Amino acid sequence: MTDQLIIFDTTLRDGEQSPGASMTRDEKLRIARQLERLKVDVIEAGFPASSNGDFEAVQAIANAIKDSTVCGLSRANDRDISRAADALAGAARARIHTFIATSPLHMEKKLRMTPEQVLEQAKLAVRFARNKVADVEFSPEDGYRSDVDFLCRVLEAVIAEGATTINVPDTVGYAVPELYGHFIKTLRERIPNSDKAIWSVHCHNDLGMAVANSLAGVKIGGARQVECTINGLGERAGNCSLEEIVMAVKTRKDYFGLELNIDTQHIVAASRMVSQTTGFVVQPNKAVVGANAFAHASGIHQDGVLKARDTYEIMRAEDVGWTANKIVLGKLSGRNAFKQRLQDLGVSMDSEADLNAAFLRFKELADRKAEIFDEDILALVSAEQQSNVDEQFSFVSLAQHSETGEQPKARIVFTMHGKEVVGESGGNGPVDASLKAIESLVKSGAEMVLYSVNAISGSTESQGEVTVRLQNAGRVVNGVGADPDIVVASAKAYLGALNKLHSQTERVAAQG
Ligand SMILES: [Zn+2]
Repeated sequence: MTDQLIIFDTTLRDGEQSPGASMTRDEKLRIARQLERLKVDVIEAGFPASSNGDFEAVQAIANAIKDSTVCGLSRANDRDISRAADALAGAARARIHTFIATSPLHMEKKLRMTPEQVLEQAKLAVRFARNKVADVEFSPEDGYRSDVDFLCRVLEAVIAEGATTINVPDTVGYAVPELYGHFIKTLRERIPNSDKAIWSVHCHNDLGMAVANSLAGVKIGGARQVECTINGLGERAGNCSLEEIVMAVKTRKDYFGLELNIDTQHIVAASRMVSQTTGFVVQPNKAVVGANAFAHASGIHQDGVLKARDTYEIMRAEDVGWTANKIVLGKLSGRNAFKQRLQDLGVSMDSEADLNAAFLRFKELADRKAEIFDEDILALVSAEQQSNVDEQFSFVSLAQHSETGEQPKARIVFTMHGKEVVGESGGNGPVDASLKAIESLVKSGAEMVLYSVNAISGSTESQGEVTVRLQNAGRVVNGVGADPDIVVASAKAYLGALNKLHSQTERVAAQG
């Protein structure tokens, strides 16, 4: 057992599986680079056999990332494992993560296999994966609800086949901390070759205990890898949150006694990047990355904080990358100042052309908004990356009229399949009229399942950031738009969602 806790981030795989959180290859690559900056030990980049898009994303990440291990998920069969190995061929350090369900319910209902068949397939899969790469992780899906005797047999067998990491998922978020911790401990004590592998925890947050369960798995069970996601992104109530695990282990080092590689100063930037890319907004009272997470921002305790910082604060806001809202740039700022600010924010642009395009957007924004904050710059970069997707629909201009006692009307100009078009409509309000004007031409038939507006930097002078979630034929996508005018931001978000709806491809469902 080492004193190092391995942080395995699965934002791009398990997190991305959350309906509406799907990301393009470029978006994933950008988040992977941020995870590398954060010094995450392992980046689970995707599930290569699930779709060509996922294969390409994993491949691009494997080729670009040098400092973190890049991992690909695969079911326990040769085809999946070969696809993962192919996608990971360019990685500096590659890991194959293979899984098969071991709980009675999953084996019987989902796999329609006997326990003996599952055991045999798990062994063959790990053996096959070990012939491809040296670093192989095995997960018994729904492990926590599996029969402990059977699980011991499976795990002992896959370690003997060469699995280097054993991950025990609480796939459905059913565990409670003490029991889960002892479950891991029992497995490690009963399995004769358990010391040949690193033990890992993977918890879901259905009962709000993913972080607590993971920490119990570490403290009681002796696990030395935690699987987690930025902002706790994930299906249903989400996964274990990376920022909470990291800051708990750091802040309470007196108790956990573990070392981490994570460079915590990049946490807030990673959180913003993930929320802006997916449209999954972070609640204000979210630990570590919520807007109210630190006492000095909430007002109530300000007096105490001013007198003595540790009256109310157990962590320093700047240690996780919070900087005070300050005017960083304005209308007169040049390209170099803009580039420098991007670098300070940890944002790297893929090319000079991308930088120039982002700078142009910045100038346009600075013409309309006197003070540009870091949040504005990050939103602008996100918009720039979103527009790199093969854009079927893009915003040009908008006029709308609303007056008490009259029906609001909107007239919008946008490009559709490369051609400029004009849509007009009335609606219940200016936003409704604008989106109906778009829909009158696009006719997507999509149902809107979520609409939310958020002030990027707090006041009415800030940009509005709008998230639109659309559902069509079983697919769910999110679009995000930012603009000082919330009606324009709404139209951009709607067009962004339509683009995603248009480009999203079908894929196989992965492990929970
Ligand atoms: Zn999961």
